[in-house]
Order: sequence, then structure tokens, then C-alpha cells
Amino acid sequence: MISITLKRGKEQSLERFHPWIFSGAIARINGEPQEGDVVEVVAADGHFLCLGHYQIGSIAVRVLSFKPIEINQKFYDQLIAEAYQLRIDIGLAESTQTTAYRLVHGEGDGLPGLVIDIYNGTAVVQMHSVGMYRDRDLIDKALRRVMGDKLKAIYNKSEGTLPFKAALNPQNHYTWGKPDSKEAMENGLRFLPDWEKGQKTGFFVDQRENRALIERYAKGRNVLNMFCYTGGFSIYAMRGGANLVHSVDSSERAIELTNNNIELNFPGDARHAAFAQDAFHFMEQAKEKYNLIVLDPPAFAKHLNVLNNALKGYRRLNTKAIEMIEPGGILFTFSCSQVVSRDVFRTMVFSSAAKAGRRVSILHQLSQPADHPINIYHPEGEYLKGLVVRVY
Ligand code: SAH
Repeated sequence: MISITLKRGKEQSLERFHPWIFSGAIARINGEPQEGDVVEVVAADGHFLCLGHYQIGSIAVRVLSFKPIEINQKFYDQLIAEAYQLRIDIGLAESTQTTAYRLVHGEGDGLPGLVIDIYNGTAVVQMHSVGMYRDRDLIDKALRRVMGDKLKAIYNKSEGTLPFKAALNPQNHYTWGKPDSKEAMENGLRFLPDWEKGQKTGFFVDQRENRALIERYAKGRNVLNMFCYTGGFSIYAMRGGANLVHSVDSSERAIELTNNNIELNFPGDARHAAFAQDAFHFMEQAKEKYNLIVLDPPAFAKHLNVLNNALKGYRRLNTKAIEMIEPGGILFTFSCSQVVSRDVFRTMVFSSAAKAGRRVSILHQLSQPADHPINIYHPEGEYLKGLVVRVY
């Protein structure tokens, strides 16, 4: 196996089990690894540190193990079995009310570069590293062994997520089985996740608990669900007894998905309307008075160097929402940018509130659910943050 020697002192973050090695930490590569090879990493004095997938780029190695083991079928069987057991323990994998959940969340499940979402027995597998992609057959086999007859199909969706330079030309396709149905449930509500053409794996399972919370606030309220995508927050608000629900997304396809999901749960319900419009444009022109607003924008900042611009966008959006919400209104506001920390996010909402000149109190501080676990040594894995505030 090819080994990589780190610069003196650069072993420290690995001794604290951080699962990434940046290219700047490398003193020497002893051999010529191909992207996706398993490599061994040693400290400057030659002692073993870890094994991981090699990749070309600023993250040079994603760590698979801090012990000298083999990365083989047994490795994937064990990690996927552990991931599945966690989802049983937190009440998801065997639930009849929720059949959409995340089974593997990258570093949080010890499998950097791998995401697997389950939709009613269909596993949507998304690889973010070449190493994981090369191991796709082992991963498929592990899934089948671990999930048994609960697994109906495997769909690999790595076309858009592998590094461009890898030139592997992956195709999105079913690698095993056929889906039972394209419908999945979340807390008893029905959804049609579009894993073949939709964003990410087809549905944002990470908002499940936050959507459940909106149900408790919705009674009698006029709800504006901004950046609605599949309409998740809207459908919970309707079950919670909202008076009116407006869903907005700039994508026509998202509005179509929202309307389909609404129809599935509340056929012909006149309380709902959906608009394919830009968020800012919609809020500037809105005639309706809202007293429950959701802001769940896409990650405005994907990298630290664009953080400032992204924060301006978040601030503008939140200021507008706080300005327009009725007194006594409730705002659910989120950021899913990894580079926006919890503190920075809260400060942004603080400045937006101050700019809007309203009294604002924090009711809930929200995060990602337990099927998106955060590896304690990898704080970068904590990406979703939200606040529920009351605006006076
Ligand atoms: N709240 C959703 C997830 C939102 S994802 C859920 O619970 O599933 C972010 C959404 O924002 C995407 O659907 C994207 O189409 C939409 N979007 C991006 N830019 C936008 C803009 N300027 N105005 C309105 N929607 C936008």
C-alpha cells in the first residue's frame, strides 16, 4: 500500500481523530497513488496514523480508519450495520409512519464521502469521493446484507457529486432491484421524493423534526413557506390547522412537486397556493399578511471566501421577513451552509432584527436530526442551524 508521510507536527489533528488530511500537511508521497486508492498515513517519525481514501485536491485523504485494518467487504458490512442499528434505535428504520430517513451521513457514520438516504425501501446512494465510488459494489452488497428484505432497490446518484477531474463518467441508475413505489412517508404525511431528477437525493430529510415543530405553531395562522422545494413545511402546517399556506420557490419543478405532495395529502384543499417566484421579488410584492414565515434558503455560502457576500444575502432576507411579519408572528429561519457557524448565524438574525426595528425573542434553537449525526471530531459536519423566533 502507498504511504503518505506528514510534515512534523501535522499528526496532531489526526491524534484528535479529525477525519481529513489537507494537502498542505503532506511532506512526502511514497509512490504514485491514483485518486480513490486506499493509502496509509504515517507521522514524520514513521509511526502509523490512519488509512484513508486518497484524492487530488485540498482534502488529500479522507480517513476510513485509525487502525491498520483492511478496507474490504467486512469493513462496509460493519459500518453500514452500525449505521442501520442507530436508525433502529432512534425509531426510524422500523417505523411505519416515517419511511424516509438518512442511513449514512458521511463522517457522522464513519464513512466520509458517502451519503445514503432511504425512501420506502429504495436506497439512494450518493458518492462524493472517488474512493467510495470505486467501492460501490461492496457498499451495495453491504446494504443488501444489512437491510435484508427491507431493501427493495438501490439507486446510485453520483453523476453530479464526484470531482469533475476524476473522469469516471458515472451514470445515475438503479444498481439493484426495483422500487416498490415512489411514495414515502414522514410522520404519517405522504411525499413523492423525486430521487431520479430532484435536488440532492430527492428530498430534504434533514428538516423532518423542524417540520414537525411547525405543525404545533400553525393553527389559525397565515403561513408563508419560502424556499419550499417539495412543500414539506407547508404540508405539516396544513395538518396543524393553518388558515392559509403560501409556498414559494424559484424553481417551476419545485412548485410542481409541492402541488403534487399537497394533492396527495389534502386533495382540493383551497387553503394552499404555490408560486414559482424569486423569494425577494415575492416578499417585496406580497399583499397577504403573514404571521408564520419559514425561510429555508439553499446554502448561500459553500466556501469561506464567499461568506461575507452570503451573509449579506441572509441578512437581507431575514430583515425583510421580520419587517413584513405581523406582530406576534413566528419566524422559522435556517441556514444549511457548513461555513456559517451557529454563532455567526445568530448574530446575522440579531442584526436583521435590529435593522427591522422589531422586538424579537428566541423560542427554539434548531439543528439537524439524529439520522444526520455529527462526528464529534469533525465539527464541520454540523451544517444545519435554525432559530424559531417570536416577532412583536
Ligand atoms: N424547505 C425545503 C428545502 C429548501 S432547499 C424542504 O423542507 O424540503 C432550497 C430551495 O430554494 C430550492 O428548492 C431552490 O429551488 C430554492 N431557491 C433557490 N434560490 C431561490 C430564490 N432566489 N427564490 C426562491 N427560491 C429559491
